[in-house]
Amino acid sequence: MAIKSPYVQSVYEIAKKRNSNQLEFLQAVSEVLESLEPVIEKNPEFKDTALLERLVEPERQLLFRVPWIDDKGKVQVNRGFRIQYNSALGPYKGGIRFHPSVNISIIKFLGFEQIFKNSLTGLMMGGGKGGSDFDPKGKSDNEVMRFCQSFMSELFRHIGADTDVPAGDIGVGGREVGYMFGQYKKLTKLWEGVLTGKGLTFGGSLARTEATGYGCVYFTDEMLKARKTSFQGKTVVVSGSGNVAIYAHEKATQLGGKVVAMSDSNGFIYDKNGVNLDTVKRLKEVERKRIKEYLNEHKGAEYKEGCAGIWNIKCDVALPCATQNELDGKAAETLVKNGCIAVAEGANMPSTPEAVEVFLKNKVSFGPGKAANAGGVATSGLEMQQNSMRQSWTFEEVDKKLHDIMVNIHTAASEAAQEYGTPGNLVNGANIAGFLKVARAMMAQGIV
Ligand code: NDP
Repeated sequence: MAIKSPYVQSVYEIAKKRNSNQLEFLQAVSEVLESLEPVIEKNPEFKDTALLERLVEPERQLLFRVPWIDDKGKVQVNRGFRIQYNSALGPYKGGIRFHPSVNISIIKFLGFEQIFKNSLTGLMMGGGKGGSDFDPKGKSDNEVMRFCQSFMSELFRHIGADTDVPAGDIGVGGREVGYMFGQYKKLTKLWEGVLTGKGLTFGGSLARTEATGYGCVYFTDEMLKARKTSFQGKTVVVSGSGNVAIYAHEKATQLGGKVVAMSDSNGFIYDKNGVNLDTVKRLKEVERKRIKEYLNEHKGAEYKEGCAGIWNIKCDVALPCATQNELDGKAAETLVKNGCIAVAEGANMPSTPEAVEVFLKNKVSFGPGKAANAGGVATSGLEMQQNSMRQSWTFEEVDKKLHDIMVNIHTAASEAAQEYGTPGNLVNGANIAGFLKVARAMMAQGIV
């Protein structure tokens, strides 16, 4: 990593010493710190008040046991996490991830990123993240319900509509949020907007399901406009086939693009005629099957094992929407060689630092996750507003607000990049614009 300022480097060294085995977390911290060097230089008061040292240390970390009984009557034990990272701008806000790979490093990297992402939305939300190493895949509905109830039996003490408002993430969709909300209500007697991503019959917001994918495409559209072009006639590759990927496909297609490839954790499909979204939605949202099954209905399509190969497909726009570190330096070079002009991260940190460097060096428009996928949490913020007002807005109203927020994030990131001497570098721009709001709020609130 290339941090030049001795102060900023010392903050990174402290984080490294305290969290030496947390690689994803340190990757996220180093990327942000590197961007902030010019800001620290201009604002010595941040150093004087140890602002960066406070920023990298979570306000609170919760780690708990989640016991539950499977359908065979056997007791299973998982780990639960909630990182309440920073509350300078509002209640902690960030999703819950259920995936076997979940550990403290992953939850901390996601929570750290969430601080800046939430700040960029312009809504009053702090940053947090949670999850468990529970794998919902292959579990019955009853098993998922019992797990969610046990998870919430501990978490309920630490959250609330004005304290900490979790949402979904990988492995946590409407079903899981519903079970957790039911248990929270039972334990607290409170019907309140404590979780977002709720079902529409009990306080969910229209367009929340679509928000992250749509928002990512709205952001990409702004990047394309800055290059004096649009989605019209562009070939698009979207990795993943979960919530974010499906709605990124939907909006990119509505704007005139053609999505030719999608993936899951086993492999990817390529359909030169355009991936049929109705089939993917049914396979993934209803039947919970593998992407490979797509070939049963679309004979002209191809399937390849392993998800990394998806980046070898020639495209104009790439939208990594699966998981962290899924796109490495080599994949980035292939994308550049094949003429890709824009990459926006629907997932959190899907590009490795080497990949980001390749994109920036080759003047590919690059939208980092904390800006490009902020539409999900922004719409969660809109769900909180509707819950507090006991109102529900129309799909069009929410979608319009989401669109405006994504345009504003693009503008804020572009302007900050310009102001701090790296025009067009939206990684620096998003980090700086997100940071400044949080930093000013922390300064005003004293040493806490
Ligand atoms: P889903 O669980 O709905 O979908 C995740 C997709 O990614 C699935 O297709 C999954 O395949 C694939 N995937 C998961 N792990 C891996 C892996 N190790 N290698 C390759 N593919 C993998 O999650 P979401 O769509 O909600 O989230 C996707 C990304 O977007 C995550 O990084 C998340 O943090 C981020 N995000 C999500 C938001 C939201 O509102 N949902 C908001 C902002 C960011 P399989 O089915 O085989 O597991």
